[in-house]
Amino acid sequence: MSRYDFLVVGAGLAGATFARAAAEAGRRVLVMERRGHVAGNCHTPEREGILVHQHGPHLFHTSSRAVWEWVTRFAAFVPYRHRALSRVGDRLYSFPINLLTLYQLWGVTTPAEAAARLAQERIPCERPRNLEEWALSQVGREIYETFFAGYTAKQWGRDPADLPASLVRRLPVRLTHDDSYFPDRDVYQGVPAGGYTAMVEAMLDAPGVEVQLSVDFLEERSRAEALAGQVVYTGSLDSLGGHRQGYLGYRSLRFEHTVLEGDFQGAGQVNYPARDVPWTRITEHKHLGQSSAGRGGVSGERTVITREYPQSYDGDNEPYYPLADAENRARAARYRADAEAQGYLLLGRLARYQYMDMDVVVGQSLAVASRLLGRTGF
Ligand code: UDP
Repeated sequence: MSRYDFLVVGAGLAGATFARAAAEAGRRVLVMERRGHVAGNCHTPEREGILVHQHGPHLFHTSSRAVWEWVTRFAAFVPYRHRALSRVGDRLYSFPINLLTLYQLWGVTTPAEAAARLAQERIPCERPRNLEEWALSQVGREIYETFFAGYTAKQWGRDPADLPASLVRRLPVRLTHDDSYFPDRDVYQGVPAGGYTAMVEAMLDAPGVEVQLSVDFLEERSRAEALAGQVVYTGSLDSLGGHRQGYLGYRSLRFEHTVLEGDFQGAGQVNYPARDVPWTRITEHKHLGQSSAGRGGVSGERTVITREYPQSYDGDNEPYYPLADAENRARAARYRADAEAQGYLLLGRLARYQYMDMDVVVGQSLAVASRLLGRTGF
């Protein structure tokens, strides 16, 4: 008989959520993690007393009460509404597009004036076939070129005319002064006061859960698989399939972390959409809400900033964003069918080859866990 009911591969949000839910349903779970720490890409190590979002800013936002209740069981959350700015040359704009942005661009001061100007700017398109056509039909050429075209080309390494509109649909255009980064429906927003790593550690700290760090499942697959009745895999799908059908496409990022004196930009996130700036955004970690929990402090002497440089994925760097084109989607579907036929349960962004926010990842793991374990109320 296997020693564990489940072997969960990967200790990020997807794996940790499933592991905890399974343990609470009375199952024995082994979690195997390739890296030397838990929390996957939400990892927040401390530097200069500041929690650093090592793999880019992670802000928790959700419209799901169940997901919010789940994550807040494992960490005290600091209320935090994410805001960002956009810097073009030496000008700063409010972002995402809201009434203040339109005032800064065109001098319009009321929602009615802004709506009238936007209506003049829009380039109608009955059936937009790509991101560029969609953006032009929503906001017109000036806004598209200033805020979206360069950022998107840098981020994805492709012309926006070759990308799906779904990539930017999540960015709102508001005719009010609401400059919240995330959709209005996401009533629950915040950051774990002690960071995501501590939150995931708390999730995995349960009777019935054992965690092994720095162990690569793919390197000891047969030994590892013999340990458990069922493997729940959250790593990359094409690695699981031994790249037999080729590599899946991803976009990667290089993060450049810098410690500086004082305060660099006075905000958690400033986007740089211009094509001639090689990074897409700069995160200043002490402004992401967590320092209000007594860590570092916004007025601390030092600050940590991170520049993000988009890169192509070469099989050795980190696969961050799945490329959602038809060829990759079809290849991913084949890998998934093979993996499921072999009995693997796939969870999370990498294993599902799907870009998902953190709350969607948690919701997916909870839903699959309750279906599989015949228990609700997670
Ligand atoms: N985007 C843009 N300009 C910006 C910020 C985002 O054109 O200043 C586009 C870009 O295509 C990006 C997408 O919107 O990939 C989603 O951006 P978001 O900041 O939500 O993405 P994430 O934080 O997940 O990278």
